[in-house]
Amino acid sequence: MITSVADLDVAGSTVLVRVDFNVPLQDGKITDDARITAAIPTIKLIREKGGRVVLMSHLGRPKGEIKPELSLKPVAERLSSLLNTDVVFLDNCIGAEVQQSISEAASDAVVLLENVRFHAEETQNNDAFAAALGANGDVFVNDAFGTSHRAHASTAGIAKHVQRCGVGLLIEKELKYLGSAVNDPQKPLVAILGGSKISGKIDVIESLMDKCDAILVGGGMIFTFYKAMGKQVGASLVEEDRIEMASEILEKAKTSGVRLIFPTDVVVADAFSNEAKHHVESVDSIQDGWMGLDIGPETERMFRREVLHAKTVLWNGPMGVFEMSSFESGTRAVAQALADATLDGATTIVGGGDSAAAIKQFGFSKSVSHVSTGGGASLEFLEGKILPGIAALDK
Ligand code: AMP
Repeated sequence: MITSVADLDVAGSTVLVRVDFNVPLQDGKITDDARITAAIPTIKLIREKGGRVVLMSHLGRPKGEIKPELSLKPVAERLSSLLNTDVVFLDNCIGAEVQQSISEAASDAVVLLENVRFHAEETQNNDAFAAALGANGDVFVNDAFGTSHRAHASTAGIAKHVQRCGVGLLIEKELKYLGSAVNDPQKPLVAILGGSKISGKIDVIESLMDKCDAILVGGGMIFTFYKAMGKQVGASLVEEDRIEMASEILEKAKTSGVRLIFPTDVVVADAFSNEAKHHVESVDSIQDGWMGLDIGPETERMFRREVLHAKTVLWNGPMGVFEMSSFESGTRAVAQALADATLDGATTIVGGGDSAAAIKQFGFSKSVSHVSTGGGASLEFLEGKILPGIAALDK
């Protein structure tokens, strides 16, 4: 059983909260504070319940060295203004001095520890380091979904060094949406999978095959499937070493009853560039020298119909090279279809990473049921893998 922070008794306790404050920085300034804002409900709840909050996070990849440009100090300042309260910033995350400062802080204080990845032991999930982090408080709450697929000291190892632990409100929401989509979805369940490569998505395709009514496939990975079907794909992206695997998936789909749906048309270009010459082509007549960089308009309409018939929609991976305006149309159409399906009462879930970036780019983030905060973590969850940062909370 994993306990929600809402059900933990934290009155008079020091609560260690692993948050994801890995914010984008430019010249020492925070350019997007969405991750800080996202942590506020859990922080407020703990304080309302009478707990002292000690926040832990990583920022960037200092690789075990103290890198001043990756200090969490600017985050402490932004958090302080967002909460309208003082935030005590400590320049380390373990040790006697840190413990002393925490114990001297007010019983409803908010303390932010320095970047946990300034210590190499963090990503090694070193037990002594995890124990030192645990010694900072009584209760551990994990609210950093985006790193919960990593077994690190501050996400997993720490759990056994505290009396009690649980999940924060952010992870609880992730588990609610992703968990019910996978384990108990309202049917029909339709998944849309895209992205550049088939290799990163094999496990999720296989896992979703047993659960979905239909899987719509887009992005660069379709060309490896087309190659497996014996089609000509021109200069499109193909993973030669995955063609056999693609054939196996096509065979498995025939027997598993899932409808695996591929584009019928694509936008082909003569170069990987926004300025390249491009036109719409049937997937059966891609010429030498041309590469598919987006799904075509007929496919957009077909995918839209499928999405609008679904009661639950899961989307992971862009339909084309959405970073270039010439090839964003397919991804935009899928984002629009999800927004419209949500209005019709469907539950629509967008995986983190590129699809979250895409839905934000097109202005539909608030028009779907849930946008996951974890790219790798949401993918691993959908693959049916156990996330160490969540499993560790099950005491
Ligand atoms: P992934 O990291 O595998 O989820 O892939 C995301 C990337 O796939 C995005 O940066 C897209 O630009 C890229 N992508 C999508 N469709 C294609 C395509 N047809 N050819 C090459 N790259 C693509």
